[in-house]
Amino acid sequence: MNVHDSERLAGLLEEAGYTAASGDQTPDLMVLNTCAVRENADNKLYGNLGHLLPKKKAHPGMQIAVGGCLAQKDKGEIVKRAPWVDVVFGTHNIGSLPTLLERARHNDEAQVEILEALEVFPSSLPARRDSAYSGWVSISVGCNNTCTFCIVPSLRGKEKDRRPGEVLAEVQALVDEGVLEVTLLGQNVNSYGVEFGDRLAFGKLLRATGGIDGLERVRFTSPHPKDFTDDVIAAMAETPNVCHQLHMPLQSGSDRVLKAMRRSYRSERYLGIIEKVRAAMPDAALTTDIIVGFPGETEEDFQGTLDVVRQARFMGAFTFQYSKRPGTPAAEMDAQVPKQVVQERYDRLVALQEEISWELNKELVGKTLEVLVSTGEGRKDADTRRMSGRARDGRLVHFTPGDANPRPGDVVEATVTYGAPHHLVADGPLVSHRRTRAGDNSEAGLRPKTNGISLGLPGFGAPPVMATSEEGCAVR
Ligand code: SF4
Repeated sequence: MNVHDSERLAGLLEEAGYTAASGDQTPDLMVLNTCAVRENADNKLYGNLGHLLPKKKAHPGMQIAVGGCLAQKDKGEIVKRAPWVDVVFGTHNIGSLPTLLERARHNDEAQVEILEALEVFPSSLPARRDSAYSGWVSISVGCNNTCTFCIVPSLRGKEKDRRPGEVLAEVQALVDEGVLEVTLLGQNVNSYGVEFGDRLAFGKLLRATGGIDGLERVRFTSPHPKDFTDDVIAAMAETPNVCHQLHMPLQSGSDRVLKAMRRSYRSERYLGIIEKVRAAMPDAALTTDIIVGFPGETEEDFQGTLDVVRQARFMGAFTFQYSKRPGTPAAEMDAQVPKQVVQERYDRLVALQEEISWELNKELVGKTLEVLVSTGEGRKDADTRRMSGRARDGRLVHFTPGDANPRPGDVVEATVTYGAPHHLVADGPLVSHRRTRAGDNSEAGLRPKTNGISLGLPGFGAPPVMATSEEGCAVR
């Protein structure tokens, strides 16, 4: 969500006449888009602001703006602790940034503007995209749940759903610029439609993306087991461009802990969804989020998590050690679990998950996968003379390009020669290589820009033809 917000900030600033600074240039403006979900986010922000002070002193006229979740939380506190900050803006008014910068410059005074509710849906703002082949599209912001460990609802507010026509128009605008893959984004995609009274809206939206010519891959994040409905599984299975990949946060396999987390599904329901997904899509790759050491978690509770992990056989899991987030109910709970106990459980969970991931990846040796070539995903690619990309199910594949010379954004087929716990290797000759417009754009250093998209009433069907950026793709 924050990464996509940063794309919007870049688009907004570009529209206001700013250009990106080159690597060795001291910029006239620094924007810090913060995330309060991360551990130690406060310390990192104030540490970074401290490092910026000498830069600002040496570069008169330089402005510093702080936005995102931490700004929403700390508000005016930021300019008290770091009076050299020029602008503080929140999660609900990112569109105000250029105006606030102008006002701060004109009045020679810090501007703090935090709104408690969304002013305009952020996707009605322009965005400069990071990737030529893959794009984020928000379908909703905010969350109506109240998980006790999570700061999101208090900082992002209640769920606001974007109209299906607007979502589809933005997807179409990206595809018109050569993008092959979109990821639909929401804190809880399964409750999409709650605002306009259509419980089945998300499944319909997935099916509608299937009608967009040129859109090869559709992903989404994150579903919520509480609201997950069977029609979404059917839409995934029956819409050819929707990838058979599901990232569904488990958080804990203990029903007692789930209750304390205020996650209103139980492990049986969670496993039931997985069973249905696998019945409809035997090739589905499942990933999850798990928190270890939530307050009050006993060894028995933790065993419950290990049991679910064994049964679910996730392709991968993002595992977190619980740590207090100020402002959340869980931070005030008794029975915080000692650090060494959390660490020991965490190590056991990671070892189990690695074993499962490795087994699943080894099963793919000899299989030929379609890979969308990506950039920056293989740290050792230069040494190994490989390139990297993602299979349709989201697996990371490092492959040997041979003489084919694929570009990021091209599509290749490669046969797996080795399965590691976190990636696959395909060292044989490529089975095929398809040059794409996304690859042409990547090669030319072009990235899509979408203008803000705002349409009429909610509805499904073919997206209306939208004008895309007048500039088309722009050079970075
Ligand atoms: S579902 Fe829970 S964890 Fe996810 S954003 Fe909402 S409150 Fe946070």
